[in-house]
Amino acid sequence: MKLLLLTLLLMTTEPATKTFTLEPLPYGYDMLAPEVSEETLRYHHDKHTAAYVNKLNELTAGTPYAKMTLEEIIEKSDGAIFNNAAQAWNHNFYFATLSPAPKTAPEGALLEAITDQYGSVEKLKAQMNAAAASLFGSGWVWLAEDNDGKLNILSCPNADNPLRHGQKPLLAIDVWEHAYYIDYRNARADAVQALWKRIDWKKIEERYNGK
Ligand code: MN
Repeated sequence: MKLLLLTLLLMTTEPATKTFTLEPLPYGYDMLAPEVSEETLRYHHDKHTAAYVNKLNELTAGTPYAKMTLEEIIEKSDGAIFNNAAQAWNHNFYFATLSPAPKTAPEGALLEAITDQYGSVEKLKAQMNAAAASLFGSGWVWLAEDNDGKLNILSCPNADNPLRHGQKPLLAIDVWEHAYYIDYRNARADAVQALWKRIDWKKIEERYNGK
């Protein structure tokens, strides 16, 4: 009887709610077309990103990770928990970087830093495009700022990201095939080239300026 009561109690107090939730897409699914189609966004957000969040809930249920933020999990975990937490975080960051009405070029301190280090915004883009083209398999190309205030282009396999390397992420390019295969098939370089038209430099400036 006692055991039954305890079981019932556990069943009712066990949180049925999900610890981690899928952040909604910050714009309409059809609003990044033609560079990123509605179909791509429906799959990329509602299927792929949702799957990472669901898997993370499954893997962390009843563990100390369930009480952590995604950032804390990224710092402290490895293996499948890291992969799914980082992919959830990376995708939130990536979708928030794109906009239906993007600011098309950086200004101010960020522009200065880019010009100092890379010569021009176009040269930075060319280096990031080259990194995206040469990243073997699945992963992300990031623009990040290190502790010395230096900008870095990071080519990260799979779910890896700048947080894992103690750097501040500024811009993410998703080069997993699921990010572009519906619209561009195998033409990753074309997909990345088009993506620049949807990258919102206002967002990147805000991150760089620490807002
Ligand atoms: Mn993706």
